Amino acid sequence: MKRSSGKEKSSAEKSKIAAEAPEELDHEPCPLCHQKTLVLSESESEIPFFGKVFLYSMTCTACKYHKADVEAAEQHEPARYTFEISSEDDMKVRVVKSSEATVKIPHITTITPGPAAQGYVTNIEGILNRVKAQIETLRDTAEDDEDKTKAKNLLKKLIRIKWGQEKQKLIIEDPTGNSAIISDKAQKSKL
Ligand SMILES: [Zn+2]
Repeated sequence: MKRSSGKEKSSAEKSKIAAEAPEELDHEPCPLCHQKTLVLSESESEIPFFGKVFLYSMTCTACKYHKADVEAAEQHEPARYTFEISSEDDMKVRVVKSSEATVKIPHITTITPGPAAQGYVTNIEGILNRVKAQIETLRDTAEDDEDKTKAKNLLKKLIRIKWGQEKQKLIIEDPTGNSAIISDKAQKSKL
């Protein structure tokens, strides 16, 4: 079953997510196409320095509707995490991102919460890969050259960030407290 819309995943991300066998329910009614083709899945994962989280997902095998989310077992305070990406090693830093989180990557993009937003456990590389996929779509669908060039430049910038050649701030704000950047380098503040 596909757990996330991200096409690229590091092996670290895969192994972590595969750690617990999910419980599945299939043939459920799909909220979008209304066929009984929805697969519901729930699993748990233990996140160091954050605690246990529940991972939920719904995937329709007919219309491809997909929704995933993550919720901490324990209630956490609404929080803002700020992290400066400055090395290739930072790619491995674990990130818990719920569908209620706002992810700010200044001068590049902002991932906003909402009904279409997904929640997942990943790492910084996983976040950057999702952003990369979005910008690639922009590049491929842009009508004018200026937008195409802008997208191409952002993709180059992302590569430099991933290689640790360019510093980049990453901010995650979540009023539900279900999100976190798990690192000593991350600054946590009240939201
Ligand atoms: Zn469907």
